[in-house]
Amino acid sequence: MGAESNGSLKCLSEIPEIKFTKLFINGKFVDSISGKTFETIDPRTGEVIAKIAEGDKEDVDLAVKAAREAFDCGPWPRLPGSARGKIMMKFAELIDENAEELATLDCIDAGKLFDWGKKVDIPGAAETLRYFAGAAGKIHGETLKMSSEHQGYTLREPIGVVGHIIPWNFPSTMFLMKVSPALAAGCTMVVKPAEQTPLSALYYAHLAKLAGIPNGVINVITGFGPTAGAAISSHMDIDKVSFTGSTEVGRLVMQAAAMSNLKPVSLELGGKSPLIIFDDANIDKATDLALLGILFNKGEICVAGSRVFVQEGIYDEFVKKLTEKAKTWVVGDPFDPKVRQGPQVDKKQFDRILTYIEHGKREGATLLTGGKPCGHKGYYIEPTIFTDVKDDMVIAKEEIFGPVMSLMKFKTVEEAIKRANATKYGLAAGILTDNLNIANTVSRSIRAGVIWINCYFAFDNDCPFGGYKSSGFGRDLGKQGLDQYLQVKAVVTPTFDGKSEIRRVALDG
Ligand code: NAD
Repeated sequence: MGAESNGSLKCLSEIPEIKFTKLFINGKFVDSISGKTFETIDPRTGEVIAKIAEGDKEDVDLAVKAAREAFDCGPWPRLPGSARGKIMMKFAELIDENAEELATLDCIDAGKLFDWGKKVDIPGAAETLRYFAGAAGKIHGETLKMSSEHQGYTLREPIGVVGHIIPWNFPSTMFLMKVSPALAAGCTMVVKPAEQTPLSALYYAHLAKLAGIPNGVINVITGFGPTAGAAISSHMDIDKVSFTGSTEVGRLVMQAAAMSNLKPVSLELGGKSPLIIFDDANIDKATDLALLGILFNKGEICVAGSRVFVQEGIYDEFVKKLTEKAKTWVVGDPFDPKVRQGPQVDKKQFDRILTYIEHGKREGATLLTGGKPCGHKGYYIEPTIFTDVKDDMVIAKEEIFGPVMSLMKFKTVEEAIKRANATKYGLAAGILTDNLNIANTVSRSIRAGVIWINCYFAFDNDCPFGGYKSSGFGRDLGKQGLDQYLQVKAVVTPTFDGKSEIRRVALDG
């Protein structure tokens, strides 16, 4: 770990002016009906950044009313897809122009690396918009041959008013990952960002308006899960909920959707992803990927490679190299370009991770490196690696969502597959080997929504993303990401009007 981690963390950037703190409903920034606000905190220091309007059920009702009106009577769903795409392209351009400010907001709100945000996360979010902007003009149904009596075709129509409930770990990526395909489809929407990270979502609402997205199409309700979030999942006039977050809350969202208007839901939930490293893997590359797999975004990423299985032939050398590299990993202020790991998102998450580390120690795992908080203030935790981890230990079973790796040794391909699959989750997996037979066997045997062979975190807008098992269902991104916001209508007519002579000729022909 770098020098920055030993008590000398300094803030390189002051908190900038926060321009948007109110709910965004029907194209206007407004106070919540109750007038209540909540504080959003800078995880570098624990200090308050701003007071944000606290939306509740009544505010969600207003936002849904605006979205319903925009869907039923407004231009957005009725525009040609390519015209929607053009406005979305403008929105993307504005995001690029404001990348620095947006990256700053995610940095102070979520502790995310500023440079990464400015160069990757924010431009990547704009690219997601462009990907779906391109798709907006290419939404079409099929012609149906049917029997000789009838002919038909399908229309692919927007599903209606969508509720998006998103987590705090990738505020910008998540916002655009949800909003872009819904916009392309012609839906209108209410977005609830996580209470920990409301700042960039409100800024995106402002940019959407500047780009020309009509009032009511995107509404943003900041607030808490059990109030504003629950009001979305149980709302009778929302046609679909797309949720990303924990498995526990995903279950509540699905329950509320079922018990209200039976709206469809898609759930992107937690994970405990395995990274399996075989004897023939290049150790330098493997140790780099393993570290990145667990430390990227301080481990606050649903596809973190939190269970690392290493084959016995290279295990000892792998551990030695991994330890050396972990010690050079710099933790510190996320505005500093040398830093690779900022603070955890908040005190609750910080405490939760430290409790898991204590669990690991108590259960008899060996702490190879890390295991402690660092810095005088803020929520920084050392990169932490446990060895001698057993599959049934809490740290190997539960999603920690922090910089904590469980390292395990295995002997055979069959054993690796069995142990990798021994989890309730099924979000992602990584395989490192040059052996095509092993790569193909393992990738087809692991029950997870994405498998990375000789890479990790290889995301792309064209690559559908989502889980198996308790990691949820439905897919964001790719063609499937758009399909979630469309529904199919079949239109059928008789093929002939009863003039049998004409009919015979046509059929014979
Ligand atoms: P969370 O489930 O606590 O919160 C997610 C969102 O749900 C927040 O906006 C929150 O306010 C809202 N919410 C909370 N209670 C609610 C309720 N009763 N009804 C409706 N909404 C409610 O998750 P989190 O702590 O913000 O995020 C971490 C979790 O998200 C991890 O489990 C992680 O794996 C998961 N995650 C999954 C993916 C994925 O794509 N699969 C991506 C990022 C994060």
